[in-house]
Order: sequence, then structure tokens, then C-alpha cells
Amino acid sequence: MRLKNVPGSREAIAESEFTIKNPEELKGKWHEIFGNDNPIHIEIGMGKGAFIMEMARRNPNINYIGIEKYSSVLIRAIEKRVQEPLMKNLFFIRMEAEYIGDVFDKGEVGYIYLNFSDPWPKDRHAKRRLTSRQFLERYKGILAEGGGVTFKTDNVSLFDFSLEEVEAAGWKLQNYTRDLHNSEYNEGNVMTEYEKKFSEMGNPICRLVTTPV
Ligand code: SAH
Repeated sequence: MRLKNVPGSREAIAESEFTIKNPEELKGKWHEIFGNDNPIHIEIGMGKGAFIMEMARRNPNINYIGIEKYSSVLIRAIEKRVQEPLMKNLFFIRMEAEYIGDVFDKGEVGYIYLNFSDPWPKDRHAKRRLTSRQFLERYKGILAEGGGVTFKTDNVSLFDFSLEEVEAAGWKLQNYTRDLHNSEYNEGNVMTEYEKKFSEMGNPICRLVTTPV
């Protein structure tokens, strides 16, 4: 993603009631923020947040946390979020996903969504990809029993890599498709911002669902 510096975005995020400032302090205690024991689902690399906002609207009995590393992008999600102040089941964290294990306890996360994650095309950067075996290991450390990961992308190389990593990590591949919008799995699909953009350009959307064993 090309990034513009959005002046004041760091300050706005620091002041927003919808972003969690010291997420490590909530490790093991996230249910307190939501005031209930509903499952917690997260999107890592949520961008401007259209997907997770829609998921939160559709599923009021699930708690959502959107994670994004750049203030200049997160600010766009906050701008949308403030327009729905009555929504109680969605918060944001500005952080680098690598440290996810410092923020969530074992079994604390019910489900993980990865949508149009950065491809990191150079081989030497493979471990930075959010579907690498290193990241799958981190996810395993926080996922609850019965939890899993759904990953969508239009990037075929990244998708092929991800299928290999799922296998190498010993996870179970539940299902996958290389053309989500024309598949049996499309019902109930919530489109992300990138998904709209790339499918309008004619790119098929790939999706896989996997669970740690
Ligand atoms: N999920 C959105 C945005 C996709 S772009 C959509 O589908 O429309 C990928 C986003 O992930 C970018 O905003 C990028 O800043 C964020 N991101 C990439 N790597 C990350 C990481 N390691 N930790 C947190 N956010 C990350």
C-alpha cells in the first residue's frame, strides 16, 4: 500500500476511544473491554476497516478487534467507526502483528482473518508474510479450541506460498478456492476494500480456510 503521511493521525488515534493504547496490559483480560464473554475475532492488517466494520454489524454476539500497523491507514477506520458510536463490539489496535503473542493469551482469540496481506515478494522476506509458518505458529499460540484462520488474496504467488506453509506447519486445510466469487463458498462473503478493487479489475479472489491441528 502506498502511504501518505496523514498529519495528526497519531494524535487522533491516541485520543480515540475505539483504539486500545496499551494492548499488552489486556492480555488474558480482553473480555473486560467488551463487558461480556463473547468470542473474540481479529483481523490482522485491516487497512481502512470496511470488512471488520461489516462483520461487527452482522454479528453483534461476536467481539471484533482490528489490527493495523500504520496510523495513516488506521485513522480512516476510526473516521468510519465514530459514525457508529452505538456499536459495542469493535475496537482497534495500532501494532505490528509480529507481537501478537504479547497481546493475546493462549486460547483468547476465537478466529483470525487475513485479507489481502502484503505479499513481501522477495524470498528473504518470506517470514514477514502473514501466512508464513512463523506467523502460523504465533496464531496457534493465541487461538481457542475450534478456532482457525481465513485468508483471502488475489495474489496467486502469495496464495501458493500460503498453501505450502499451511502444510509445512502441519495445519489442516479445511477448504480453498481460487475463484471465491464464483464458488460455493461465496455465500455470506463480506468484501474487503482491496477485494472490491481487485475483483473490479478482473482478478479472481483466492481464499483458504485452515485450522491448527
Ligand atoms: N485488509 C484490508 C487491507 C489490505 S492491505 C483489505 O483487504 O482491504 C494490507 C494491510 O495490512 C495494510 O494496511 C498494512 O499496513 C497492514 N499490515 C501489513 N502487515 C502488517 C503487520 N505485520 N502488522 C499489522 N498490519 C499489517
